[in-house]
Amino acid sequence: MVYKPRLIDRLFPSNCLLCGTGTSSGLNACEGCIEDLPRNGEACPHCAMPLPVAAACGHCLQEPPLVSGALCGFRYDYPVRELLLRFKSGGDLAAGRLLAELMARQIDALQAVPAGDWTLVPVPLAPRRIGERGFNQAERIARVLGGRLGLRVEPRLARRVRSSPDQKSLSAVQRRRNLAQAFHARPCPGRRLILVDDILTTGATTRALAQSLLNAGAAEIRLWCLARAV
Ligand SMILES: [Zn+2]
Ligand SMILES: [Zn+2]
Repeated sequence: MVYKPRLIDRLFPSNCLLCGTGTSSGLNACEGCIEDLPRNGEACPHCAMPLPVAAACGHCLQEPPLVSGALCGFRYDYPVRELLLRFKSGGDLAAGRLLAELMARQIDALQAVPAGDWTLVPVPLAPRRIGERGFNQAERIARVLGGRLGLRVEPRLARRVRSSPDQKSLSAVQRRRNLAQAFHARPCPGRRLILVDDILTTGATTRALAQSLLNAGAAEIRLWCLARAV
């Protein structure tokens, strides 16, 4: 695992996306603003829920997760929430890249790339959503993480066959049933996969995707998300 900073970032200093100060940190943010970002420190190793100590949370003890580990770089709080909004709704790709670059540095520092042959799989968006937004935010994040950490990215290992725009109005049972049929995975016997997404909320979406990949033969699945909603 080798973290590869881009030469272009060192040659051309830029302005901080958060406070506007000029910076040569190699990122679009100054050292002070980077320091102040809400990191997801101690957390449940299975679902990344922030906790006073890193241990399995009550929910994961009750219902063992399908993924063998989850890591989130930040908490979904100010100003990470605002950066993600700029990225997803405003099409500000630099805001998404900044958070992904910082998460890559964090994963590198924690030596959190698991040993063995792992592939990054961005959580697929429904084609209609990609049409609206113009890009899949999870794929953008996965490309940065893969490039920096030397991991392969396979966005087409799974696809979304059904969009679920009205999830909020459904009961928990209906929601789970709806999501179970939301993804179609290609055969992937024995593969070790890391799902990548922007925000981890209930984990229902990634659970459904993990299930379809396990059904398609995957040996082990982990989860990396930029931000953990609490
Ligand atoms: Zn700043
Ligand atoms: Zn947990």
